[in-house]
Amino acid sequence: MSEKFDVIVIGAGPAGYVAAIRAAQLGLKTACVDAFVGKDGKQALGGTCLNVGCIPSKALLDSSKQFHNLAHNLPAHGISVENAKVDLGTFIGRKDKIVKQFTGGIGQLFKANKVTAFFGKGKLLKGNNVEITGNDGSKQTISATNVILASGSVPIELPFAKFDNKYILDNAGALDINEVPKRLGVIGAGVIGLELGSVWRRLGSEVTVLEALPDFLGVADPDIAKIAFKEFTKLGLDIKLGAKLSKAEIKNNAVALTYEDKDGKHEITVDKLLVAVGRRAYTDGLLADDTGVKLDERGRIVVDEHNHTGVDGVWAIGDAVRGPMLAHKGSEEGVAVAEWIAGKAGHVNLDTVPWVIYTEPEIAWAGKTEKQLKEEGVPYKVGTFPFAAIGRAVAMNEAIGQVKVIAHADTDRLLGVHMVGPGVSELIAEAVVAMEFKGSAEDLARIVHAHPTLSEAVHEAALSVDKRAIHKGN
Ligand code: FAD
Ligand code: NAD
Repeated sequence: MSEKFDVIVIGAGPAGYVAAIRAAQLGLKTACVDAFVGKDGKQALGGTCLNVGCIPSKALLDSSKQFHNLAHNLPAHGISVENAKVDLGTFIGRKDKIVKQFTGGIGQLFKANKVTAFFGKGKLLKGNNVEITGNDGSKQTISATNVILASGSVPIELPFAKFDNKYILDNAGALDINEVPKRLGVIGAGVIGLELGSVWRRLGSEVTVLEALPDFLGVADPDIAKIAFKEFTKLGLDIKLGAKLSKAEIKNNAVALTYEDKDGKHEITVDKLLVAVGRRAYTDGLLADDTGVKLDERGRIVVDEHNHTGVDGVWAIGDAVRGPMLAHKGSEEGVAVAEWIAGKAGHVNLDTVPWVIYTEPEIAWAGKTEKQLKEEGVPYKVGTFPFAAIGRAVAMNEAIGQVKVIAHADTDRLLGVHMVGPGVSELIAEAVVAMEFKGSAEDLARIVHAHPTLSEAVHEAALSVDKRAIHKGN
């Protein structure tokens, strides 16, 4: 007889581990199966996000920002440091320590909540049985009333630039370079390309980013993307738009790239190449042929608005299903599914999921862009406010960027808030709260914001929607 649970979660990323903890909190007997192997060869819970995604990238972004500030921000404060150096061993080691702290923390949370962790590859069989294959090839089967699939995503590989994590790097490789590359090529000016490209640029690499599309950061609001592009160019990221890579050849300890743009064919050579052209849902070996769980044309597990697959007791969450590939989106789905299973009222509003890009300046948004609203024929009005007029930002010597608030032209309801500038990864939370409570621009405008803070830019942008910003002309 196989061991029986109320809930089995396959995948212990931010979607799966959160689902498992919430299910256990609700009194359900819960197991979580995960196959991720950490740098030490042992099971490492936390999935992409904790091991090779959100957390390690932010650790390196923060370290590299400190280094960059020494030469580029502190002199304006009258502080100078000569001969500053980076010890890459400590730089990478600090990141590894943080990763270990957090992945280990999930193990402790599992223990505290009585979630049983299994180490191995889980495969859903018909009848909600899960076969687990250990690293040594050993097999065992467990079963449950409900199974939550949370198998996440993996980087998309280009057929002519296969990852070897020596010369051609995926996200994991780009977080573990042991020598600052003199020349770093990046394919894809998306979130990973910009974040990790910034890390290595700040440490001194010459970074060339090849982006296939003609527009920069098409997912963001164009005004925000324009400001960001200018700042990234100032940082020294050489971003080439409309550039299509056609060849990547490893020779003489380097990678020779051939790409085409509107001016024709070009060749450049880089020491390392990061390929960050998007991620795909990962379901390899996850489903037996007869489970009835369906995949869509992009390989994502098909679910309804309650993350149910249509197969009795089988749910799916996180990067493996539709919607943005973001840790917090997956976590909220995990909580909601656990609550639905327990007969409670779960809730996820995909319309207010915030996006944050942790570059300098940071970029953040929630809700719709002007382009989307135009396409949908929704009438809107816009208010903006620059950080250049925010005392706190000027005091920090980081007065770059702006906040843009979009509200319905008739009802004033908040439809989208878009930001580029200092600390906007934190400022966006206010906009999300307001939007989640179906607030209006006037609501934001009437809230007292502390002075002097960066949040005054949100306040002023909301005032500016009705042309009554105080500290700028309207
Ligand atoms: P994952 O985190 O991918 O976890 C899935 C887990 O399931 C993995 O451990 C995998 O090994 C395991 N697994 C898969 N199949 C099986 C199986 N059959 N059996 C057992 N185990 C299995 N998002 C943000 O919100 N903020 C950020 O700052 C951010 N930064 C990022 C930086 C980088 C470099 C990358 C690559 C991603 C970043 N993301 C960020 C995205 C974020 O990492 C993902 O959205 C998030 O990890 C998805 O969570 P998940 O639980 O769905 O899947
Ligand atoms: P992305 O979708 O953000 O960007 C990929 C970029 O590559 C796009 O601009 C695309 O046009 C371009 N591209 C695609 N094919 C190309 C080609 N052949 N040549 C040149 N350019 C090409 O994908 P990503 O940067 O790989 O990140 C994957 C996902 O991980 C993100 O979309 C996001 O969901 C998540 N992520 C989030 C964060 C965060 O929240 N801060 C950070 C990193 C990753």
